[in-house]
Amino acid sequence: MDKCCGKDLVWTKISGSWENYAIERSCCPVCKTIRDRKDGIIYTKKEDCFLCGCGTEVLAAQILHPIHDGPFPLSGSGRVRTEMAPFCPKCETKPSSSGKIISR
Ligand SMILES: [Zn+2]
Ligand SMILES: [Zn+2]
Repeated sequence: MDKCCGKDLVWTKISGSWENYAIERSCCPVCKTIRDRKDGIIYTKKEDCFLCGCGTEVLAAQILHPIHDGPFPLSGSGRVRTEMAPFCPKCETKPSSSGKIISR
C-alpha cells in the first residue's frame, strides 16, 4: 500500500468494465494530492496536469471501442465508446487506439 503524509492511500477504481486499462485514483486526506494509478505506475496531479514518477507530463491516448449492438455478430450501429488512457511518453509506449469490441 502506498503512503502519503504518513497515511495509507485508499485507491478507488474510476474506469469502466469495458476499458482497456484499470485506472485507480486516490486522494491524500492530509495534503489533498490526487494520484492516478495504472498498471502499477503512479501519476501525481499537479495544477492542471498529471506527472509521472520520472517527472514527465502524462499524456492521454484515445482508445476507440466499437459497440456491436446489432442482431448479428459483428453488426451494429457503428457507434464507439472513447476511452482516454493516461500514459507517460518516456516510460511507456503509447497504447493502441483500437480497443476491444463492446457487445451487449
Ligand atoms: Zn499527502
Ligand atoms: Zn515516466
